[in-house]
Amino acid sequence: MCGIVGFTGAQNAAPILLEGLKKLEYRGYDSAGIAVMNEQKITVQKVTGRIANLCEKTRDGLDIPGTTGIGHTRWATHGAPTEENAHPHMSNDGKFAVVHNGIIENYMSLREELIRDGYHFESETDTEVIVHLIEMFYRGDVREALIRTTNRLRGSYALGVICSEEPGKIYAVRESSPLILGIGLGENFFASDVTALVNHTRNVIYLEDGEFAELSKESIRIFDCTGQTVSRKATRILWDVQAAEKGGYEHFMLKEIMEQPGAVKATIAPRIRDGRVFFEELGLSSDEIQNIRKIIITACGSAYYAGCAGKYAIEKLCRIPVVVELASELRYSDPIIDGHTLLIVISQSGETADTIAALKECKNRGARSLAIVNVVGSSVAKLADYTIYTWAGPEIAVATTKGYTTQVSVLYMLAVYLADKMGLIAGREKQLIHSLQALPRQIQQAFDLNSGIPALAKKYHGSKSIFFIGRNTDYAIALEGALKLKEISYLHAEAYAAGELKHGTIALIEEHQPVVALCCNRSIMEKTLSNIVEVKSRGAEVLALTFRNNQKILSVADDLMFIPDVDALFSAVVEIVPLQLLAYYVARENGCDIDKPKNLAKSVTVE
Ligand code: GLU
Repeated sequence: MCGIVGFTGAQNAAPILLEGLKKLEYRGYDSAGIAVMNEQKITVQKVTGRIANLCEKTRDGLDIPGTTGIGHTRWATHGAPTEENAHPHMSNDGKFAVVHNGIIENYMSLREELIRDGYHFESETDTEVIVHLIEMFYRGDVREALIRTTNRLRGSYALGVICSEEPGKIYAVRESSPLILGIGLGENFFASDVTALVNHTRNVIYLEDGEFAELSKESIRIFDCTGQTVSRKATRILWDVQAAEKGGYEHFMLKEIMEQPGAVKATIAPRIRDGRVFFEELGLSSDEIQNIRKIIITACGSAYYAGCAGKYAIEKLCRIPVVVELASELRYSDPIIDGHTLLIVISQSGETADTIAALKECKNRGARSLAIVNVVGSSVAKLADYTIYTWAGPEIAVATTKGYTTQVSVLYMLAVYLADKMGLIAGREKQLIHSLQALPRQIQQAFDLNSGIPALAKKYHGSKSIFFIGRNTDYAIALEGALKLKEISYLHAEAYAAGELKHGTIALIEEHQPVVALCCNRSIMEKTLSNIVEVKSRGAEVLALTFRNNQKILSVADDLMFIPDVDALFSAVVEIVPLQLLAYYVARENGCDIDKPKNLAKSVTVE
């Protein structure tokens, strides 16, 4: 969610900050700003809307010379997305500028206290208390002021700070919100994620919670919250810079949809050896696996739906009950957990605030925890007992595609792995592994079978709302399909378990109401077929997703999308693909900002 950049070096800071902010745009934001220090003077420029406006306002940064600065994209939590509320915020004496990602939970009482002490506020943000606290505690030593300030703050914060009395220095503070330092030659950086750094350096240091750093062009010093020096090794970023570029596609989302055969293969292939699934990263012994009595999967958004899809495979193969819970609910639900519970948390970014909180809550209650995460070194990865990485590469579009399919792929592999360790799949290993290995190829086939989707989007894009129906695994996939459409096309979309329609929702079906019917699970195909007939008899227009040559469905549906023959147990990875394409092309027809949908952020680091 939103982003921070910081730079100190010999070149002008503003163009570098603007370029860094552009790389962070995908995280979602509503306003932006930069502060640049030239000798002892700090200049701030802010805009609402896109970074492009900030570039225009500052003539691509040329209007603000100076070699030290901080920048911010804001996703408003406290106060409207206005220019006054945009960051950086300045201290009353003009000496400090601060940018902040996160939420200060006790800002109300701090604000009252600071107003009583004579500080005046120019914004409605929670952030502004930080800069006034720093001013209040500053006695010529920025580090000391930061320590005393952070002692007073509750909540989550990544901060970037500059002080006019320390030209050439930038400060970074981290608590429950990501911040990464970039080590350059005669220049140093910080940013909320590595995409903003890789154009300049591949050597980075991940700050830990409770730490802060002082960067000058020649040095980086890291301290803990008491001011003790901390030594930390640099990590080298190995992924390809190209991976975070559009590569000829109109949108990152389309590029990422098309990358799925490769991403799913990268996630699955290295973990299959000699006809078996291997998870070296999972340190559970066979005895411990035998002792699992319950699995809780927790996540938010699409990752939660990935859990819903994975549940079927785990329950079917392992015969262990799987509960899938929204992290924002689980954390406050007084969950029933003991040493026999395996908690699986799923998060693409590994920084999702609700997921982190649920993970901490369940760990405290004694659960063993396993994280499925895409971003290496992220908070979730660090907190969990074990982490399995999805090797999807950087995902830039806010609406996830390859993130989701690689998460589901891991859950499928996990189902096979656990069942194998429990001795439940003897004689079936070969067929199951074969089905897993076929998935990347089948995604490619799903692309080939659905060249008609842009035309379908032209037909359906004007609808007010679209229902998605399916049973069992089809239902789990319908949930994610409907979310995709909502997120990027802003159409109202709702997924229903097909058998549930007649218990209420069928009242909404009227003449020409589009219904997307998922019929890819042969075991309950006949039942879904009856539901299709029910909605058709009430005038619905049915767009079915099914196997090619499925004559029964072909004869009743108005329009069709196809998947190749897949093992129903593992179908989500392939079956979601036409629904992603449908959402993409509908959003394109509607002229939506596909990669950066309104009001959404890529990684939701606030509660
Ligand atoms: N809570 C702060 C605000 O509303 C920061 C939001 C952000 O992380 O961008 O200004």
